[in-house]
Amino acid sequence: MAAMKVPFLDISGGMRTLYGHLLDTLLPPHSLITGQVLSKAGPEADVELWQNLKFIDDPCCQACGFPFEFEQGQNALCIRCTAYKPEFDQARSAITYDDTSRKLVLDFKYGGRTDGLGFFAAQMVRAGAEMLDRADMLIPVPLHRARLRQRRFNQAALLAREISRITNIPYDTEILMRKKNTPIQGSLSFKARRRNVSGAFDIYGKNKHRLKNKRVVIIDDVYTTGSTLSACAKPLKRAGVAQIDALTFMRVVRPLEIPLELLAHSLKKDEPTQKETS
Ligand SMILES: [Zn+2]
Repeated sequence: MAAMKVPFLDISGGMRTLYGHLLDTLLPPHSLITGQVLSKAGPEADVELWQNLKFIDDPCCQACGFPFEFEQGQNALCIRCTAYKPEFDQARSAITYDDTSRKLVLDFKYGGRTDGLGFFAAQMVRAGAEMLDRADMLIPVPLHRARLRQRRFNQAALLAREISRITNIPYDTEILMRKKNTPIQGSLSFKARRRNVSGAFDIYGKNKHRLKNKRVVIIDDVYTTGSTLSACAKPLKRAGVAQIDALTFMRVVRPLEIPLELLAHSLKKDEPTQKETS
């Protein structure tokens, strides 16, 4: 029998609402990628998932987790991290963000489709096993209050809650606050993104004392340039956090789009200084 499609679930964002979760519960299981009805619930039955997603693994940049095509030695850094060391210690992501996988995030973030949460979190646990092993606390990237009102839920907090359920590491949504309602970053350049989120986050004063010498993992849905995660890490560092890691479900991988300004900055750093040459 040809696979049946659930037309109103094959959405690209706007159609679904808060009722998405209810629909996920009431309707038969359907593929996260094609929307086609599955023979049984669970990602195992969703063959399209395993065939179409690009799972991120080693080797990768020691700092930001950018996937390398071949082994580059222990502690190797990508060109971006060589030029600008991120504020966090280490970041890892589970899946490459591309034309196919984008649907998973859009349906989840803007469509309220939550039946993939267990799969997303399990993949994040796989990719972040090392950092989760040492973590005391999970901290989701917060939304600004106005954005939260509009979207009704914070996708990063849902991911953190699910990872917490699997790992028993507590998650806390009352640590980081988003002070600035920054415009959606969309196609902004690396430099513009850094400017956009600079100073956007702070710590709730009443909870600062809980962070001293702790090892935390910041949780978000997509790693684009790392600017948001670095902006989150800054106030955590000021509050005395000992280890700041970051874990995202997806990661934008654009090996050829290294801005010239970064390259120049990196080369400048390698040049011997006046003092060294004299
Ligand atoms: Zn890197």
